[in-house]
Amino acid sequence: MAISEKLQLLCKYDNIPSELTISAILTEDELRYVGDESFLDLMLTVILPKVVAEDVDFYKLFEIDFNWICRCLRILSFGPIYTTNSIFCDSCHNTTYGEYKVNLNSVKCIPIPDDTPEIMRVSKHEFIDFDKDIFFKLPTIGEIQNMMKNQLFIRKDTVIDALLGRLCCMITCIGDQVDISDKSILDIFKNKMISADYQILRAIINQMTNFGLESCGKTQCPRCKSIDATFIALPDDRYYVRPWELHSDDQTVTVAGVEKTYREVRQQLYENIIDETLFISRASESAVSADWLMTQPIFVRKKYVESFTKELQEREKTVKNAGSRRLGQPNR
Ligand SMILES: [Zn+2]
Repeated sequence: MAISEKLQLLCKYDNIPSELTISAILTEDELRYVGDESFLDLMLTVILPKVVAEDVDFYKLFEIDFNWICRCLRILSFGPIYTTNSIFCDSCHNTTYGEYKVNLNSVKCIPIPDDTPEIMRVSKHEFIDFDKDIFFKLPTIGEIQNMMKNQLFIRKDTVIDALLGRLCCMITCIGDQVDISDKSILDIFKNKMISADYQILRAIINQMTNFGLESCGKTQCPRCKSIDATFIALPDDRYYVRPWELHSDDQTVTVAGVEKTYREVRQQLYENIIDETLFISRASESAVSADWLMTQPIFVRKKYVESFTKELQEREKTVKNAGSRRLGQPNR
């Protein structure tokens, strides 16, 4: 496994190089990653400054590049295999539920066409009733982070309405109102735009910004074996971002056939990392110290676990064989 890798950013920037060098996440940072409450804050302030070699203002990255870096970092640190809970098949029209291993390299990333303008426009002629042009741009991850903390977008059930919030981040101008505030945009959506036009606006913006990581990957259908089946890998969902940020802690998920709350999943992930580190340290008779492992990439720990587990199994087999030989062939 490579320790570092070059990646091409999707967008063009004035102050950020077009190619970045990223290195794998260290075990000590994986512990923080599992334990920390805010994924975005942790990535922007701790993980990315550590794993990206170039000097970058990460808040200025467009959201699609942030997701793209997270995907590359995920594959570099943990490998491309991902466990999904459902597979959708167009050939036999079945959705199969269970735990399936899929490959994240099958999730395509669509480059931005060269002729894409920085500011895009939805013409007033697209709407049924609304009579103003709407201008928008891609949101930066810094803007998304601010939006996630903005009281304006909290719904009655205390959850952030991220779809609405993202839309407001993107819109720069409605009619002749330049640099329009989030509050004014919400006011227009609520009081001056019919629901059908709001849906049209969302559909057109989605269509015009359909680049970056796709939301599905390809895999084999467990039933009809078609290789065109798909699994969901939303860039900002379970696929990389920790699920407990998007769901409440008492919501459950199935892990290895057992229902667990997200709180339990986090706890288990945390304990697994500690257990693996201690196991290596013991199996190596302290030749490999837990402290040293903490400062190494995740795959170094995984490799040691694999080789020591194998060694232990072989040792057990030898002991067992020696035992059965003695039983079967008594000394003459
Ligand atoms: Zn099928």
